[in-house]
Amino acid sequence: MPTYVFRCPDCGDFEAFATMAAVGPSAPCPSCGTDAPRGITAPGLNVGGPTHAALAAHERSAAAPAVVKAPSPAPPRRAPADPRQARLPRP
Ligand SMILES: [Zn+2]
Repeated sequence: MPTYVFRCPDCGDFEAFATMAAVGPSAPCPSCGTDAPRGITAPGLNVGGPTHAALAAHERSAAAPAVVKAPSPAPPRRAPADPRQARLPRP
């Protein structure tokens, strides 16, 4: 159920939970009872998690790239799945 923000002219903002079908253009203020119009807010984005961390690291690396002191280690060699692959010519 979404959260809606209403702006009371006397008391300020307050939030109310309502279904999209039940929400109206205004709601009574819980403090003073004045009819408060619904405010427009940014949608709730999923902030956090691995995607957000990767995007934050990408933005940081654009402005201040990390200093590398040594090359990254070579990946370990794996045995070929088919032994015939070992006899294939290498570049
Ligand atoms: Zn009020």
